[in-house]
Amino acid sequence: MKIPFVDLKVQYQSIKKDIDYAIASVIEDTAFIKGKYVQQFEKEFSELYGVKHCIGVANGTDAIYIIMKMLGIKEGDEVITVANSWISTSETISQTGATPIFIDVDEYFTIDVSKIESKITHRTKAIMPVHLYGQMAEIDTIKQICEKYNLYLIEDCAQSHFSEYQGKRAGLFGIASTFSFFPGKNLGAYGDAGCILTNDDSLAEKCRMYSTHGALVKHTHIIEGINSRLDGLQAGILSAKLPYILKWTAERNQKADLYNKYLAGIENIELPKVRPNTKHSYHLYVIKAERRDELRAFLQSKEIACEIHYPTPLPFMKAYEYLKIDKNDFKVVEENQQKILSLPIYPELSEDQVLYISNSIKDFYEV
Ligand SMILES: *Cc1c(COP(=O)(O)O)cnc(C)c1O
Repeated sequence: MKIPFVDLKVQYQSIKKDIDYAIASVIEDTAFIKGKYVQQFEKEFSELYGVKHCIGVANGTDAIYIIMKMLGIKEGDEVITVANSWISTSETISQTGATPIFIDVDEYFTIDVSKIESKITHRTKAIMPVHLYGQMAEIDTIKQICEKYNLYLIEDCAQSHFSEYQGKRAGLFGIASTFSFFPGKNLGAYGDAGCILTNDDSLAEKCRMYSTHGALVKHTHIIEGINSRLDGLQAGILSAKLPYILKWTAERNQKADLYNKYLAGIENIELPKVRPNTKHSYHLYVIKAERRDELRAFLQSKEIACEIHYPTPLPFMKAYEYLKIDKNDFKVVEENQQKILSLPIYPELSEDQVLYISNSIKDFYEV
């Protein structure tokens, strides 16, 4: 049975009418840049999420950069973030001129809050946790630390659309949060797209201005900005998908439950732990496996696609050699990196497929 890592085509086929209608409408109205489809999506997403402002931007990476830039983060500043993430999280810190300060992960694959305070200096301006794989970071504690030291809290929610911590959604805890709508994300466009969420009126206006060449009114450039607009076609597609997102998130959870059931009791693997009082959105289902590379090759031979998120922790990347980071600070992430394996998970994955994958893993370990 051939199982891709994600199957964007089955999802398209299941809502083809909605998508095709949305695309045709945008073209009919020639609303390619900004315009009503972008406004409509911003309104719908902010309302569904329960937040005052949604600013659509070109991608999730720009969303992070724009917030930090508009918060005045600059050269000489430091921003604390997590050692295991996609590089957007840290490269945008560097783009502002600031320095990324990495922290090891806890048992839930998110920033280890017990290690944050010792890294705070007079240069620290913000903490940016990532709710990696759809799992909420220990956000209450992070918020308390931010309040104690007067730091900005920025949440990277690229992998955590509609995750919850004590009943409150990811992205609603700090000054602002960022989302990616990269096609493979839980809410995915058909190209690059992203957004910023915030309840802060002044920050919202600044971010909007900066993302459109520093002008809220055409030709009236208050500052110099960048070109990072949400595309009309992508906005139309996202609006067409939005009515399904809560259902899809529930279905991701169901697939995770099935994996938990069928993989239970295999001693050679560790199933993903869920932080108490949180709701996971399972962007990824990540196990820790003994002889991981052999297992991956075995699954590959059975046409089951698996991935590693991520093969190299950020502090160990060549890009950060210049920071002269002490690698001993990253024992957990270093050990995880030899074991983590992301299994296929998406709303349309069938129980048969989960069973086939699970049985193949059992075959490998001969249990
Ligand atoms: C995908 C991702 C981003 C960046 O989003 P793009 O839309 O691809 O720019 C940022 N942070 C994390 C954790 C991501 O997974």
